[in-house]
Amino acid sequence: MRSSVPVLFLGWSLLACTGTGSTGEDTAQCDGASQVSTLALTSDKNGSVDIPVSLGESDAAFMILTESRTGLVSTDGVVDAEGNVVVDWSDWADSKESLTNAFFATDEVSAFNWPIREEDGTLSAGDWTVTASTLDSGGYPKARQDVDVTVIRRACLGSTATLPITIAYAGGLEDDAEVSAAVEAAAERWEEIYGALGINIQVSWISVDIDGSLPEPLTGGGDYAAVYEAAGSTGVVVVVGDDVAGASDLYGEAGGIPGPLLASSHSVVAVSWLVHAGGNARFDADEIEVFAETMAHEVGHYVGLYHPVESGWSAWDAIGDTKRCTSGSACESALGANLMFPYPVCGQECLAQTELSEGQVAVLLNNAGVQ
Ligand SMILES: [Zn+2]
Repeated sequence: MRSSVPVLFLGWSLLACTGTGSTGEDTAQCDGASQVSTLALTSDKNGSVDIPVSLGESDAAFMILTESRTGLVSTDGVVDAEGNVVVDWSDWADSKESLTNAFFATDEVSAFNWPIREEDGTLSAGDWTVTASTLDSGGYPKARQDVDVTVIRRACLGSTATLPITIAYAGGLEDDAEVSAAVEAAAERWEEIYGALGINIQVSWISVDIDGSLPEPLTGGGDYAAVYEAAGSTGVVVVVGDDVAGASDLYGEAGGIPGPLLASSHSVVAVSWLVHAGGNARFDADEIEVFAETMAHEVGHYVGLYHPVESGWSAWDAIGDTKRCTSGSACESALGANLMFPYPVCGQECLAQTELSEGQVAVLLNNAGVQ
């Protein structure tokens, strides 16, 4: 999420921007292609579900989407083909570092991508197991519940990494020449920002017949499943509306960390053109730059990135090479130019926020939506 927090310009130091776009082994099978399969499973008497994931030699990442029609779901852990636990939610439950929202049972769909970070290691061929839970609205285990599971396995990437994006105009904004020109300019700038990090975004454009005042995708909006389907894409859908949740200070919000790569009420990034255009409702060059950075930032969340530090300065991402800081001034100085900093840092003008660490770029490249 990105909201406007008025802050003083406190100076900053240049971080080395070392995103290299390293894409793993470069063999014939490394084409970044995805294989999608679905399973209908039922949780046991403890509300636990074992999801089998059969991995091939060229599989480099997978996403598991677990959906319940009767309550909440969480993703709890991963066991590799040799029986080793490679990640377990309980190691992260009380952590000041965040790895994935999938561990938290907040909704009827749980999107879990693995691996997440470079330090999570690589996949090996064989029969892996992902564990999930079905829960009631109070967060207690709910026995013997049916779940629909989608498994997306993605091969190692070739020499290029591509993220398909659909930009969807809501509320008839496609007919507003000034707004659409600004969104197009911001999308071009966003392409440059991701391009410099080694990720090509491939943008398609649609318009959708929903109200321009957008609901929050994080809590879920009724029309977003239909919007994702209308996009007909396996990538990320960005909806441009007048506002998000009626807020005058919310630039944008992502439907999850990571967001689901299938249709659900969370399956979009929502952005407000009006908050970017400011009080005069017209765009200048700086506002288009911030708009581009918002789309790049929110889609960063959607493909798995947290803020390197949250704005209370006491919670961080789990990536080894993002700097640790514990106060507003220290964090703006160390991380203010980072694309995933929690708010734009503005004085006379706003700092460009376009940098990612190598570890942050690795998270993006591990997402099953990047081909
Ligand atoms: Zn954010």
